[in-house]
Amino acid sequence: MPSIYFHIPFCKKACHYCDFHFSTSLKYKSEMLEALQQELSFRKRDWGTTQISSIYFGGGTPSILEADDIQRLIDHVGQHYEIATNAEITLEANPDDLDIKKIKGLRNTSVNRFSIGIQSFFEEDLQWMNRAHNAAEADASIKRVQDAGFENITADLIYGYPLLTDTKWKQNIDQLCSYDIPHISAYSMTVEPQTALDHFIKNGKSPAMNETQSANQFEILIEKLNGVGFDHYEISNFAKAGHYAVHNSSYWKGDSYMGIGPSAHSFFGDTRCWNIANNAQYIKGIFDKTPLLETEYLSLENKVNEYIMTSLRTIWGMDIDKIKTDFGTEVFTKIVENIAPFVSSGEVELKKQHYYLTSKGKLIADHIASELFFVEE
Ligand code: SF4
Repeated sequence: MPSIYFHIPFCKKACHYCDFHFSTSLKYKSEMLEALQQELSFRKRDWGTTQISSIYFGGGTPSILEADDIQRLIDHVGQHYEIATNAEITLEANPDDLDIKKIKGLRNTSVNRFSIGIQSFFEEDLQWMNRAHNAAEADASIKRVQDAGFENITADLIYGYPLLTDTKWKQNIDQLCSYDIPHISAYSMTVEPQTALDHFIKNGKSPAMNETQSANQFEILIEKLNGVGFDHYEISNFAKAGHYAVHNSSYWKGDSYMGIGPSAHSFFGDTRCWNIANNAQYIKGIFDKTPLLETEYLSLENKVNEYIMTSLRTIWGMDIDKIKTDFGTEVFTKIVENIAPFVSSGEVELKKQHYYLTSKGKLIADHIASELFFVEE
């Protein structure tokens, strides 16, 4: 079912590895909140959707906002769409924002799921990443959110960076599991161009990331989380039964979504569009009633490759019948031909008309997907 994403483009500090759009200045905060509401109203007419199954506040750092600001945005969604009674409403939050007063305020909002950016429980790692929080806040934030009565919590960890030995990585996973939260996301550290981390590596101030270390730590992660009852339902996501993320799962299943805010992307089946990644220009565009966004009409190639990329990474696998029905016989034949070597090598398996990555295949998921990409001639 369709969903709405709000991009809140403010952060207290710039993490060294981050290439998301955000500003460390809150100068335009009130204008931004007004613009987000206006954009939602403005774009309603372009989207025939009436019911919303999830709302996701991402960023940036949405927990920088006051609880009332967040509820005002949710109420605004409710004025334009019917929000499903069991809708998942997620707030990305950084540990340093989650003091008792903020959490109490959020208890009075419709937010029913937290996504907490822990990344590591080690002080030196958090400093190396230039995170705004410290190790004590990482620990306290999860406990406080649970003490306030929130159960639907996910937390992020990062692996595969130079300071993280396998021993420390196991400790991070064990500590996160000790809170008994139902969902965990874990990402390998990637070096994006133009980030501080990219410069540090180029200037010799930081070693480069090590692929073997990352692959080993990914295996450790899978083994440990599977061992304590988490389903590995997407390459970077693990959940206890009944706690798969509704919002992200709808992306992976190809449902439409509307992204509100600077740099936010939207997807409507045949088109994808994205807003300008500049706070001042975004606000001006909205206030002038000329939103600054680019639209891409998706070709067959785009749609096929998007489907391969997302479906193969999930527990639901790649549906052969869907490929034949939605994309035609030529695409179907090519994919079956290209996937055969991975089936023979035990990296992909075919069950009930679906292709799935095996444990071995999960280690090279991106490589397998790229080998299957369809190129229109
Ligand atoms: S808090 Fe998140 S969005 Fe902000 S700089 Fe850090 S990683 Fe990027």
